[in-house]
Amino acid sequence: MKTLKVNIVTPDGPVYESEVEMVSTKAQSGELGILPGHIPMVAPLQIGAVRLKNGGNTELVAVSGGFIEVRPEQVTILAQTAERSESIDPERARESKSRAESRLQTQRDDVDFRRAELALKRAMNRINVYERNF
Ligand code: ATP
Repeated sequence: MKTLKVNIVTPDGPVYESEVEMVSTKAQSGELGILPGHIPMVAPLQIGAVRLKNGGNTELVAVSGGFIEVRPEQVTILAQTAERSESIDPERARESKSRAESRLQTQRDDVDFRRAELALKRAMNRINVYERNF
């Protein structure tokens, strides 16, 4: 089976590095499935999960936006934040989700609203990745 080298990097350092058979994630333009030999491209990502398939195993990494750069034998993801499922603190994500939900209910101004919406998305994404809800 051919493989791709995948690196997921944040401003705090590398989070994931491995050879995998397939990478899938959500770009802003829609779902992306990448196999070895894919044409080169760069695309902005949504807040979402990166699924890394290898030998019947699928590992999940939660990413908050950023970019994916695809080359035929290598994929690099540069994200603002990224956590492997096993390093997610589910309690922290649930608390963050509740805070964001109460902010969305009070709705003071557009800036707070957008910020709370993004915080809610990040928290729900972390909960889903932790629970392997994909
Ligand atoms: P919180 O309100 O809990 O800080 P947040 O969405 O505002 O959540 P971010 O700004 O996205 O947090 O992330 C800040 C740092 O904390 C990043 O390094 C991120 O990887 C880490 N992080 C955030 N939430 C979690 C979590 N639930 N489990 C593990 N690491 C987390």
